Amino acid sequence: MRPPAQDEARSALMRRVRRRDTAPERAVASALRALGLAYRKNVRSLPGSPDFANKRRRWAVFVHGCYWHRHRGCKRATVPKHNRAFWEAKFAANRKRDAAAIRDLRRRGFKVVVVWECEAERSIKKLNALTELAFHRIQRGRRSQMNDCVRSG
Ligand SMILES: [Zn+2]
Repeated sequence: MRPPAQDEARSALMRRVRRRDTAPERAVASALRALGLAYRKNVRSLPGSPDFANKRRRWAVFVHGCYWHRHRGCKRATVPKHNRAFWEAKFAANRKRDAAAIRDLRRRGFKVVVVWECEAERSIKKLNALTELAFHRIQRGRRSQMNDCVRSG
């Protein structure tokens, strides 16, 4: 089945759009650093080119976009209305490729973690809310230290 030109263009665009750290990738990177886990990024020598991996320690982390990697039950995993059959075939191929990569890695003794972008974004929001809490506490502490002489407008 040949996809119409606009779908080819869209695919090409999506391929190019990738490869700049997304917010979920940055969040995972900082979590790994916080845990003292050394990693390499986009490890092409491993199946599926994991986003983060440590070959010696044998672990790999994929940060998957819900749309392209088809997060099951996620509202982001929509299917375009046009050329549905083409997209469904393409998505099925993506899924199969992902599953094969994970299987290969596990066979090599790797622990594999998949972080879905929507999960990462939710936890970023939660963390931001917690950070804000901490910030407010600090602000209030400062304010009471200054005997409440300054009132922010
Ligand atoms: Zn999702």
